[in-house]
Amino acid sequence: MTDPLALNEAERARILAKTARFAPPEAVAGDGRRDLVGLSRAELRAVLEAAGEAPFRAKQVWHWIYYQGATDFARMSSIARPTQARLAERFVVGRPDVATVQTSSDETRKWLFRFRDGQEAETVYIPDKYEDRGAVCISSQVGCTLSCRFCNTGTQPLVRNLGAAEIVGQFMAARDAYGEWPSPKGETPRLLSTIVLMGMGEPLYNYENVARAMVIAMDNEGIGLSRRRITLSTSGVVPMMDRCGAELGVNLAVSLHAVRDELRDEIVPLNRKYPIREVIAACRRYPAASNARRITFEYVMLKGINDSEGDAHELIRLIAGIPAKVNLIPFNPWPGSPYETSTPKAIDRFAKIVNDAGFSSPVRAPRGRDILAACGQLRTASRRHPAAA
Ligand code: SAH
Ligand code: SF4
Repeated sequence: MTDPLALNEAERARILAKTARFAPPEAVAGDGRRDLVGLSRAELRAVLEAAGEAPFRAKQVWHWIYYQGATDFARMSSIARPTQARLAERFVVGRPDVATVQTSSDETRKWLFRFRDGQEAETVYIPDKYEDRGAVCISSQVGCTLSCRFCNTGTQPLVRNLGAAEIVGQFMAARDAYGEWPSPKGETPRLLSTIVLMGMGEPLYNYENVARAMVIAMDNEGIGLSRRRITLSTSGVVPMMDRCGAELGVNLAVSLHAVRDELRDEIVPLNRKYPIREVIAACRRYPAASNARRITFEYVMLKGINDSEGDAHELIRLIAGIPAKVNLIPFNPWPGSPYETSTPKAIDRFAKIVNDAGFSSPVRAPRGRDILAACGQLRTASRRHPAAA
């Protein structure tokens, strides 16, 4: 039976066409050497074979790049010196440049990464307060095509999509900063053990690159994150939610933020294309959802806008029967933002109604607000090059 809402080719083509002209630049270093990061295993094998290397070389190199975190061929000690030198002549293992790094009073850390063409995006590491681990919040685009009213990223027009290397590269650079690669003795990293695709951009409008990057991050002979440790957040690109569920099966977070179309049309403009009913239906059929792996609904608490008891009741009616939790995010202000944060009392009242209906409803404590690293505060100065306009 065909599902009328399942990905249809025309939809996909339209989404891809919409972002294709923002395709990232070729992964080649300034001196012409090819960057090996971001290639699939098969592509890595093909690239190395084309350079005259034996087929087994790709497995070794993959291990050094993604398990050991090596960026220097000279460190790849299982590879003979002359081969290391040969590889270094033609290839690099790249990382984005760190333009700035800031650490919040609550230990949250934010990097401004600069990519080869000079464009920039932000990445945030949020250590868990109670455990020795944390999440790396990764950007998928420079800017965003959507313009959710409460979101600082949404005030920055889309500059371009990030490539697979740039997406997984953010995580790798974050691990570098914490020395979080396994030592040669084989200790496993603990701190940077989760990826949340909740940074700048709409990951489902750059699905191909995001998917390629996550396939790399999930590879067991490398970074080896389980799909349970990856959460993709979307503002509700319905057809791509289906594809993401079918292909990647990572955890899904959905930026709901309003329970009536009239309001959601205004604050999450994508709602005009994919209204609440369709977004919720896509959540109901999301294959990776279960009691063990619930869908997260994100709900930003905007004072006097979406935080009434009536809104809470409508929310539980909408999501009834979905294995879900509701993350209540007190609105994080940014310079010029048009909203205020709901009062703690309104948030508690809302949380209680949702919780009493059987959904866990944690209030997400703002992290890194002092360095503009909290949800919705990310923004960079990048603009499209005039030539690309
Ligand atoms: N584009 C994707 C990924 C961004 S995730 C998405 O929208 O889902 C960032 C989360 O923070 C989203 O749920 C987003 O709606 C929310 N957010 C945006 N601006 C915010 C703000 N000022 N305060 C709190 N949360 C915000
Ligand atoms: Fe884009 Fe998400 Fe911000 Fe909306 S909330 S503007 S989709 S980054």
